[in-house]
This record gives sequence, structure tokens and C-alpha cells, in this order.
Amino acid sequence: MITRSFRTLLRRIPRAHARREKSRRFSNFEFRVSNFSRLALLLVLFSVCLGQSSATQPRQRERDAPRQSRGETPAPPPDGNVYVVLWFDTEDYILPQSDDAAKRITEILARQGVRATFKVVGEKGRTLAERGRQDVIEALARNEIGFHANTHSQHPTPAEYESKLDWEEGAAEFTRRERPGFEDLRRIFGRAPTCYGQPGSSWAPQAFPALKSWGVKVYLDDGPHVGLDGRPFWYGGLLNIFNIKAGSDLRPNEDWSNLDQAKANFKASYDELSASGGVVSIYFHPCEFIHREFWDFVNFAHGANPPREDWQKPPMKDPEQIERDFNYLENLVHYVKSFPNVRFITASEALGVMPDRAQGRQFSAAELREIAEQVTSDVSFQVRSDYALSASEQFALLNEYVVRTVRKQPAQSILLSVTPYGPGSAAPELADDMNVSWSQFSRTTQDVAGFIEKNAQIPNVVWMGSKPVPPESYLVALARTTRALVETHTLPNYVTLPLAHLAAARYVADDSPRLWDWVIFPEGFDAPQMMVLAKLQAWTLKPAVLAAGPQVHYAIDISRGELEARIQFANEHFSVSGSYPDWRPIPGSQTDRGKVYIVLGPPDQIRDPEPLPNTLAVTFPTEEWSYVDFPGVGAISCVLFLDEMMNGGYKMVPAACYGHLDEAGARQIYKIIRGRIEQAVAGADRTQRNGP
Ligand SMILES: [Zn+2]
Repeated sequence: MITRSFRTLLRRIPRAHARREKSRRFSNFEFRVSNFSRLALLLVLFSVCLGQSSATQPRQRERDAPRQSRGETPAPPPDGNVYVVLWFDTEDYILPQSDDAAKRITEILARQGVRATFKVVGEKGRTLAERGRQDVIEALARNEIGFHANTHSQHPTPAEYESKLDWEEGAAEFTRRERPGFEDLRRIFGRAPTCYGQPGSSWAPQAFPALKSWGVKVYLDDGPHVGLDGRPFWYGGLLNIFNIKAGSDLRPNEDWSNLDQAKANFKASYDELSASGGVVSIYFHPCEFIHREFWDFVNFAHGANPPREDWQKPPMKDPEQIERDFNYLENLVHYVKSFPNVRFITASEALGVMPDRAQGRQFSAAELREIAEQVTSDVSFQVRSDYALSASEQFALLNEYVVRTVRKQPAQSILLSVTPYGPGSAAPELADDMNVSWSQFSRTTQDVAGFIEKNAQIPNVVWMGSKPVPPESYLVALARTTRALVETHTLPNYVTLPLAHLAAARYVADDSPRLWDWVIFPEGFDAPQMMVLAKLQAWTLKPAVLAAGPQVHYAIDISRGELEARIQFANEHFSVSGSYPDWRPIPGSQTDRGKVYIVLGPPDQIRDPEPLPNTLAVTFPTEEWSYVDFPGVGAISCVLFLDEMMNGGYKMVPAACYGHLDEAGARQIYKIIRGRIEQAVAGADRTQRNGP
């Protein structure tokens, strides 16, 4: 048996370096079978301290809690840059002193040699021009100008009017109401704003296609509506620096007396991010340095909408407090700057730091097969070596591949040139798996290709002749078809459309009062239909990958000789002789166990997990490998493999871990680890070919 001989050999392998022997006891496993057609889902138990926490964990770490002293040991030199996006929502068009506050901030930044992003409200830009404050306009223009809605808090605000509109009407209405402010800023500041962020928490998904059509590429703000583990992400076709964990605890308290705590919080974030690089997002409002109450709270709270002649100026702070406020900012910026590898970036510079490497990329048949292999009935994004793919991008790529095959125009590669938007409405779910003939399926692929080309959108419903199918089920069928076509080069007789759902939607919040707690909203405001639309746009969601840092960090840090030895060991012990349907042998180094072995080396411990009574009657061979440490990921207690074909071709599988992670959380962590293993193996292949 492969397993036994591997274990026997394992005992004889001298460890490359001593690892802390720290085997863990697992007592409560929860086995769940989420999809019978895929045979079984088993468990990966990680005790993970990933830099990226699962969204199932609380979104915010304990803010402002006293942090433990880290002792006097100097920190190791960082590997990755820590990018700081500093932004100012420049919005108060009522209190004239806020113009001077904005100017004074630009002077502080100039002294510190830092450029920030000023998201200006359209009405604020017009007001500056009307007041003749060319000095403020020029000072702001030396930084980067973003857009912060046309009138900000005058009702209806974007979420208010969008809450009653569908996808297309909403995009058009956003343009009708907001575009004039954007154009005014272009005129006043001499160039188009580079980014947008919603006023207050008045967020709406229909803003995204509108903004994209204006040429805006970055969404810069904060809020709970959508988030990906507290890091930057792509959503709605824009780079989102939104719902970022690092930096949200640098905000001033009531009397701006928490500077020391803010510094300590920054240091904690820096320590966490500097290993592999990351993004910190810090924001202020120029007006909050000088006022005691927000300009819009005084005038537009709880749905109030007085005419211009009745607008009231908010009360000012006393001069001493104002000095303390500006001092807070200057001190904090100075402190942040003092760390090695900190880079202040603007919204547009963030695009260079986190380019979308999937767009414009040519995908080979082998890559498409790998992408297809990772598509499951839990439809979501994929993180691959130096890029990520949203569900809608997988959909577009795999559909195009099948279409080319059907048309007998096989391509060497498929170009990705668009992130299709999610559907505009939800499809009815399938009652059960559906089989259709190859003839029907292949004709439908042509129909879908035409739809994507025309609308750059995932269709609400995919029609198998007269039968409607949700796009999630269709994507899974596309993935299976792609695998069959690449592996066997024969057309199937029929195609099965399985039950599937958009798992990525869990990163978008459910409608709830906490989304709309901005004091400007009328009492009881909610937007359930709009948040359904927002969840459908999770088709476009994927992490933003830093251009530099991770590739270096997840490389395999071993000698070339050791690398060759591991590859040889993997080929000798994990090779699979081949199985249905194509019976081609798979070299051990290309199996999941082989890849993990090549990247992580021999496991610290190996064992069979105990099955629980409620699993399937048939038990498949499993192996659980424990590792104490995975550089760049943290501690992984164990990685679990399941041999569902019972031919020695063990696959790494995600699963639920009782008491730690739910299924979705475990699957997400599995994806991250899988992505990093693949990345490291790809790097090792390059090293093998090109030398170190
Ligand atoms: Zn604002």
C-alpha cells in the first residue's frame, strides 16, 4: 500500500531541520457531506493564524483593547511593503472654516512629504470655486482628487434612491444624479477624480457599473456592506479599498486624546502585515478637525431636507482642541512614515500595487483544466499564483473554451478581457440535478457566449431549450465539461446540471439596520432588494493580489538538492497509475500529496482521522498530515487528503471543523492554502527550469 510504504519511509527520513514537536489532540470532528455527487467532503483541521481571517470570524479585532507588550526583541526585517492609503472625505460645504482645515491638512502632508487622496463632494468643489478659494483648490490638487458624491447628505442619498431601483435603472439613475458633480470636479481641479466612495453608509451596488463607465477604477471608502477578510478586493469591476481591517483603529476618539493608542494599533497592524505585504487604510474628514458636530448632522439628520436658506452652520471647537487635532494627524503620519517599507499610496497608485493580472492574460488549456477542477457547487472566486479569478471570470473563460471546442476552433489559449457583472436578478433554483443532451448543452454555450459579449454580464437564467437553469449550475456543468474535453478529447453524450449556489455571496452583508445606521437616513430605512442585487454581484468578487511580495514570500526556501530530492520522493511514492475515465498515469509530484510534500516537506505527523458514525456507509481512505509551521501562512495543524477514487490519487479536501470554522470558512482557508501551495510549486518549477 502506498500509504504504508510512505509511512515506513517517512520514519527513516532525517528531518531537514528540527521542528517543534507539538502534536495536537483533536477530539471533536464534525463530518459533513455537502454534496453527495462529489462523494464526500472531509475535514481539514487547521489551527490557522492566517493573515487573512475568515469572514466567519468577527470582522473587527478588538479595537482599542490594550495590547500586550511585544518585548524588546527587535522585529525581523520585513519582506513585504506596507502600503498606506490615507484619504480625506472633503465634504462640508456649509462651514467656511472647513475650507481652511482642508488647506492646513495639505500643508501638514507637504511637510511630511506624503500625498493623500482627497475625496471631494461635488457641491464642495462648486462652493470652493464660488467662495474664490483658488488657494484651497490648488492645495488639494497637489494631492489626488477622488469623488464623494454630488451633494452627499441632501436627500435622497444614493442608497435611498437606489433602494427602489433594479440593476440597470439604478446604474442609469446614479449617473443622472451624481455625474454632474464628477464633471464639476474635473472642471474645477483640472482632471477627473480617480476614485469614489459613498457618502456616510449610503452604499449601493448600482454605483459600480456607472462609475466604471465614467472611467473610475477604484472604490475607496469604509463600510460593512461587502468585505473580503479585511483586505482589498475586486467587486463590481472596481478595485475596492473598502472594509479594510488595518487602519480602522487609527481614528481619533472624542477629544483626539488617543494618539498613543493609535500608534500602538498601527504598530500591531504593521507587524501583522509586513511579513507578506498588505494595505492599511486611514481616513479623516477635514471638517472634523474643527467642528463639534458634523455639518450634515446639524441639517440633514433622520431624513430632514431643509432648503439651502435654512442651512445652519455647525458649532466650532475651541482653538486648543483644534491644535490638538491637527497635531494628532501630523504626529500619526510622522510615526507611520518612520517604519521601514511603509509606502504611502493614493487611490490610483493602488492600481499599480494591486494590478489585476487575470485581465489580459492568456489561459492555456492546462490552466483552464486546473481552474475547472477547482469549480465546485459552492461557486466562488479562485486564488491562483499571482492573480485571482472571480466566479464570473471563470464562467466567461470556461464558456469560451467549450464554445471554441464546439465550433471546432480549438485555441491554444483563451484571453480574459472582461469581468462580467453578476445577473440583474436571481434565477429560480433547480429542484434537482438536470440532465440535458450534448446537442442542447452545446447550442446553449453559443447562446451564452452571445449574451456575455453583448452585455458583459452573467445571464439571470441560462436556457436549456425551454428549461431555465441558474447560472451557478451551468458554471459547474461547464467546469465538468471542460475537464472532460481537456482530458479525454471526446464529446460527452449528455451533461448534468447539478444544484449549486453562489457561495461568494456570503461576503456581501444581508440587509440589516446596522448597514444603514448613518444618522442621515430616515428612521427605519432598509434596502432588502438592493442587498439581493449586491449579493448577485458577488459573481465579480475576488481578492486583490499585491504585485510584489507574495511571490517571493511563498517560494520554497530550500536548497536545490533538497527540492530535487522531494520531487523524486513524491514521484516514487505518490504516483497514480491512472483511473477512469482516461487511465493516464499521474506523476506523484503533480498529485496533491506530492505538491504539499514538495512545498512543506515531510509532515511532522501522519495519521488516519477517526470517522464518525454519521458519515457515509462507505469510508474512503484518508490521510491527515500535520505540520507545525507553514511560512507565510502560519501554523497549520493538519492537511487532510481523501482518496475518493480509491486508487491512491488522494486529493486535498476542505471540510468543516467543529467549534472552529463552519464549512464555508474551512473551504475558504482551504482555497488560500491551496493557492499558496500551487504558487510555491509553480515557483519551484521555474527554479528547476531556470536555476535559482
Ligand atoms: Zn462623507
